[in-house]
Amino acid sequence: MVNGLCLVIIMEDDRKVSIEDGAGGELMEQLITNEILPLFKTEEGEIRLDDLDDSAVFEEVVFTTDSHTVKPIFFSGGNIGSLSICGTINDILALGGLPVAIASALVLPEGFPYSQLKSILESAAEICKETGVPVIAGDTKVVGRDDLDEPIMTTSGIGRRHRLLDNNFELAGGRKTRWLSDKNLNVGDKIILSGTIGDHGMTILSEREGYGFEGDIKSDVSPLLDVMDAALSVGGVAAAKDPTRGGLANTLNEWAKKSEIGIEVDESKIPIRSWVESAGELLGIDPLNIGNEGKMVIAVHPSRADKVLGGVRETEHGKHAEIIGEVVEDLTGVVLKTEVGGRRILETPIGDPVPRIC
Ligand code: MG
Repeated sequence: MVNGLCLVIIMEDDRKVSIEDGAGGELMEQLITNEILPLFKTEEGEIRLDDLDDSAVFEEVVFTTDSHTVKPIFFSGGNIGSLSICGTINDILALGGLPVAIASALVLPEGFPYSQLKSILESAAEICKETGVPVIAGDTKVVGRDDLDEPIMTTSGIGRRHRLLDNNFELAGGRKTRWLSDKNLNVGDKIILSGTIGDHGMTILSEREGYGFEGDIKSDVSPLLDVMDAALSVGGVAAAKDPTRGGLANTLNEWAKKSEIGIEVDESKIPIRSWVESAGELLGIDPLNIGNEGKMVIAVHPSRADKVLGGVRETEHGKHAEIIGEVVEDLTGVVLKTEVGGRRILETPIGDPVPRIC
């Protein structure tokens, strides 16, 4: 109050969106928590928007959506078409859902070659055929060539409760669950990684920047129905998550935070291709922070972990699976036991070090 007048200072919001706001790490979480959730949060649904899981569950329907802005749109092992469909399928699987149908929307820049458009659509259709999940709705828009550099593909998917989820009735803490959720982990759970880490992110980076790494440089983009079928048919699965933006580090930290537990990871057990490892060293990028598009991290009751691992290893997409760690007592966050015998905290990355990765 100044001389009886109320002084109101209105601060203008002059913040600008940064690349990290969409990079799957801490800054993206802040954007969602501070700007989006206050407006759209709802108390309805079994797995809700503010659970920030891979999909939501609303009236028994598993529902998810993702925009894809990967650059370059064509890369070794896939393109934006296969990536979009696989990403949506994997997000539904991560909840213990079985994908049923997909809607897909394309925004194309004027002048985009028809031949490339056909390749993208054919790759998407191939994944639909392989998985038996059809695209049943869609939209196409074209914008001026100065307004967009490359196509954007937005894919939404619905799913049902996986028929094998009933094997999963009890968690390590004795609690019962109907869905796989980030909140479900308990002390004793083993952490299974379905294969090598960092392949997608490093492929995108090396192809975008023109680095010539030696080795079989290829993205891992794949639909993981076989991996989840194998895991759920054994049972004891508490949670599953595809480590996309922010990589394995982000996935494990999300679990630790939401389940209020601590995870210890044995670095020597994390499967990694030699070219990914040397690319990471050369570029100063930790492969644990970088996105994957064909991997699942699965938390399993200790009594079933070896059987789940065996089952996953028999699948096409889970051959290199390993138990990489476990939920331990008296720990919060994620700790990495290094190969030289040390221990370091594996932090939530600020954002994926590679923008436009998916
Ligand atoms: Mg996901």
